[in-house]
Amino acid sequence: FVDLADRSYTISIGSDLIPSFAELASDHLQSDRLFIITDENVAPHYLSPLLESCAAAHLHVETVILPAGEQTKSFSQYESLINRLLSYKPSRKDCLVALGGGVIGDLVGYVASSLLRGLPFIQVPTTLLSQVDSSVGGKTGINTKYGKNLVGAFYQPEAVFIDINSLSTLPARETLAGYAEVVKYGLINDETFFSWLEENGPSLLKGDKDLMAQAISKSCQSKAQVVSEDEREGGKRALLNLGHTFGHAIEAACGYDGTLLHGEGVSIGMCLAFEASVHLGLCPQEEADRVARHLKACGMMTRAADVPHTLEADTLVNNMAQDKKIEAGEIVFVLAEGIGKSLLVKGPDSQIIKTTIMRSLKA
Ligand code: NAD
Ligand code: ZN
Repeated sequence: FVDLADRSYTISIGSDLIPSFAELASDHLQSDRLFIITDENVAPHYLSPLLESCAAAHLHVETVILPAGEQTKSFSQYESLINRLLSYKPSRKDCLVALGGGVIGDLVGYVASSLLRGLPFIQVPTTLLSQVDSSVGGKTGINTKYGKNLVGAFYQPEAVFIDINSLSTLPARETLAGYAEVVKYGLINDETFFSWLEENGPSLLKGDKDLMAQAISKSCQSKAQVVSEDEREGGKRALLNLGHTFGHAIEAACGYDGTLLHGEGVSIGMCLAFEASVHLGLCPQEEADRVARHLKACGMMTRAADVPHTLEADTLVNNMAQDKKIEAGEIVFVLAEGIGKSLLVKGPDSQIIKTTIMRSLKA
């Protein structure tokens, strides 16, 4: 449950939620018309069961299948999706359904926020990353030539339906990238959850569905809690960016060409945040080692040298200066006093940050 007064909504997690979508969604629909938007990788697996459930419930459905990939979060796809939907003459009571990963969720959410000045939408996230992170919290948006997610809106869905079974077709690398965000919740403020992941992470990544469901549920609760306290990122919500300032800098240096997934950058970024915290005298070395050990045991990247690109420390430092999370000219970093003890630090010693990056780049 995400507690946001009249914009509150529930997150349902389970097996086979997609085939029972219409039943589950019926309480959230204001009309019998739905627009399902998905991508070309997700459609072959999950569109038919979703459509069948809608047909059985006598819902009128229009479907849009978009190209897969980050390029879909663009002005041009936004415009063509808006025009396509307008051609169906929607009313403000009709509901959009985002069936797919974070790309579809972010784009559809933003279209929902702006089409006819806002109509309801439901998230059906199908990647681990979107299930534990992007589908919850109401951040929607598209990318621009100046950077990712620079145009968007805070716009909450009517409901989120997480079908664990959809992860069975997700490439292992995508699952692992999503897992970085799961680990993030433990590192921010829940040492007990991190210990649980140390014990169960490898098994849940090998396909243990019960453990996976528990991890997703815990992650969503964690995110919902933070978002309820700080919907518009005035303070506490910024902790969710642990590993992201470093991670985004690495992603940008790799050129968003698919060679580095967001979660892979975040995995390295969290290690860097802990290393920097050690060098700044905030955090014991053993804690940083424990973070890297767990990520590594799960098969994740932990150092900038793991990236299949030649990166320069100066490039990464410059990229960080472009980050959105800048206050009065100073970058706000999420650092840590230990596992489960993250904190915001404005403008930490830039030389220490750079040295941390340089060490991480050494093979
Ligand atoms: P994605 O949507 O591109 O999905 C990754 C790949 O997996 C795509 O090729 C997709 O077609 C495919 N796919 C999706 N579900 C599948 C399934 N069940 N089986 C097989 N293939 C499947 O990427 P993502 O990692 O889900 O999301 C990344 C996006 O999320 C980024 O644009 C990022 O900015 C955004 N994001 C948003 C928030 C937020 O709060 N709104 C938070 C984190 C990330
Ligand atoms: Zn992230």
